[in-house]
Amino acid sequence: MARDNNSAATTAQNTNEVQKNTYEQLLSGNRLFVEQELEKDPDFFKKLASGQSPQVLWIGCSDSRVPANQVTNTKPGEVFVHRNIANVCVHSDMNMLSVLDYSVNVLKVKHVIVAGHYGCGGVAAAMSRKQFGLIDNWLRHIKDVYRLHSHELDLITDPAVRADRLVELNVIEQVFNLCKTTIIQNAWKERTDLEVHGWVVDIRTGLVKDLKVSCSNTDNLSKVFALDAVTPAS
Ligand SMILES: [Zn+2]
Repeated sequence: MARDNNSAATTAQNTNEVQKNTYEQLLSGNRLFVEQELEKDPDFFKKLASGQSPQVLWIGCSDSRVPANQVTNTKPGEVFVHRNIANVCVHSDMNMLSVLDYSVNVLKVKHVIVAGHYGCGGVAAAMSRKQFGLIDNWLRHIKDVYRLHSHELDLITDPAVRADRLVELNVIEQVFNLCKTTIIQNAWKERTDLEVHGWVVDIRTGLVKDLKVSCSNTDNLSKVFALDAVTPAS
């Protein structure tokens, strides 16, 4: 029994050690990052501190394997980022809408990219009938995408291929969801240099697949979603 207690204590100590190392590595990693950037450009952080003018808004999955800057080989300051589980864009999400409004109307980004990824755990969970807790409510949005496209998805017998296709269809639906917002539609009434795109990152190769669903007007939306301009009250 005493030996069991000792071994449990050693395991706990090792776990604590690993946890501490992981944490310390973040801080030493940060110092290394600063050192390397300053070596390339001594004014790098001075320039960053002076403000941002990113041209791109990235709406991606929270998955740790798809970081916006690394995937696109961009630097701090170049991409404005919003991430959530399975890159869902719903019009009741005040967080997403705030990011979208600020980036479109204040930063004046030119490209909004919805970036999904193959192997998305959120999409796989939404395809299943298992309960996962609170997240089930969020995954309902993806189940709705499945329902919309069930005629196509149910014909795919390989579950992995079906999951890959749902990842793509989910991105496409989220692109349309963004295009339905007053934020995007009012911006299109004012300027012609704003596009919404749909991408999937293949985490098996690192490469991006452009789904070729880019929109710069309401032509691809059902008429009921294309809104008239607001007329000022007289
Ligand atoms: Zn994901």
